[in-house]
Amino acid sequence: MQRFWPGLLCTASLLLAASGLDLISADSLRKNVTWLAADERQGRMTPSPGLSASAEYIATQFRLAGLVPAGERGTFFQTATLQQITPDNAGFQMTLSAGGRKIALQPESVGVSSIRSLQFQDVGTVRVRGPGPLPSMTGRVVVASDAWEAPAMFHSLELRKPALILLVMGGEKSADANTLLDAQAAKVPVVRVYGRAASDLLAASGEMRLTLRMTAPASRSVQVRNVAGLLVGDDIDVRDQYVIVSAHYDHLGVKPPGPGNRIFHGANDDASGVASLIEIAKALKGETPRPRRSVLFLALFGEEEGMLGSDYYVRHPLVPLRDTIADINLEQLGRTDSSDGAEVGRFAFTGPSFSNLPQKMASSAKTAGVAVYRKESADDYFDRSDNYAFAEAGIVAHTVVVAFEYPGYHEVNDTADQLDYRNLAKVDRALAAGIEGVANAAEKPKWADTVATAIYRNAAR
Ligand SMILES: [Zn+2]
Repeated sequence: MQRFWPGLLCTASLLLAASGLDLISADSLRKNVTWLAADERQGRMTPSPGLSASAEYIATQFRLAGLVPAGERGTFFQTATLQQITPDNAGFQMTLSAGGRKIALQPESVGVSSIRSLQFQDVGTVRVRGPGPLPSMTGRVVVASDAWEAPAMFHSLELRKPALILLVMGGEKSADANTLLDAQAAKVPVVRVYGRAASDLLAASGEMRLTLRMTAPASRSVQVRNVAGLLVGDDIDVRDQYVIVSAHYDHLGVKPPGPGNRIFHGANDDASGVASLIEIAKALKGETPRPRRSVLFLALFGEEEGMLGSDYYVRHPLVPLRDTIADINLEQLGRTDSSDGAEVGRFAFTGPSFSNLPQKMASSAKTAGVAVYRKESADDYFDRSDNYAFAEAGIVAHTVVVAFEYPGYHEVNDTADQLDYRNLAKVDRALAAGIEGVANAAEKPKWADTVATAIYRNAAR
């Protein structure tokens, strides 16, 4: 008899080892996406009652999944105070001149992100074109096209500490221009100018000069929350190292505000990522043994308002950044009807060439019957979601997506009934296996040794 025991134990432990990932359920994913994307959540705008209710819901699901509260004061929440600003247009004055022409701008065609007053009297500006080396701009007014709104490009301007960044936007100003700021981040003030006259002037030759007088806007403090739950690692030697799995739980809200509202449900973007966080948490908690390193599950506010939640987290980390070995950010996992064609049984990474993490996760995914595909332009998406804030802090960080673009993206018909939950469950099992692989591996993920990643490799840890 005895000699059969080792075999029996081995079989039993194999069965146990497989049990965690089997907890991932298409029905549970459907239930959670449907709740988050319901009309009652009103599109989870940052800030809004729908966002706040969603934070409570996610915290409850994290608790049910068996995660430990990893927020402030023994809760699942990390609370940020932001400023909601209302421009004060009394006394507003703005002119731009170039090539012998001068235009006056009205407050209606200007968007200002600053909590301070702004005063510039006929000052010369620095024009940024690109690509190529950036000119010196410390303490100067920088003028750039809207292409420079892309986070990595914008950040390269901010780093050079100009006095003001003036973005000449191609189109017209929308009614719902962003008015939410993190005053503590102490970023460079940004002025966006809209309309044809300003774009035409940008094309004119010669130096552009600026006059701007604007009193400080009225501002109101609002509180919003990241939701954080921890799965403590199984190995005492490495459990103080962390893998972060993140997804944003905010969306675009209701537009236009007022009667005749249209709700932007944000089912795939990104209730699918948040529901996946919950399922993957359950799965890894159910693994025997649990992952060796600890895994921090993070649902983030404010991605749609300019990645405010991840930016806030990185400035107020709940676990040390130097001990955080990776961020795996989940976006748009539920729709398979990609604009590139059907994406069934496979997912992709943004910035696939930037580190060895995608390749490591691909081999785990393969054992779960899911392929990792490579989108040609995927490096260009690297700075378009919350992984970017972690990358800026030097942490190997990527976003995982099933469909980069899909019909209904940022439209009112991104609804819960459009998702393929069976495929989502399959993808989540592969992701859970991949995350477990990263959490268990002897080697931490590494940035690729390329020019493109130098800024992340050199980031202060
Ligand atoms: Zn998103």
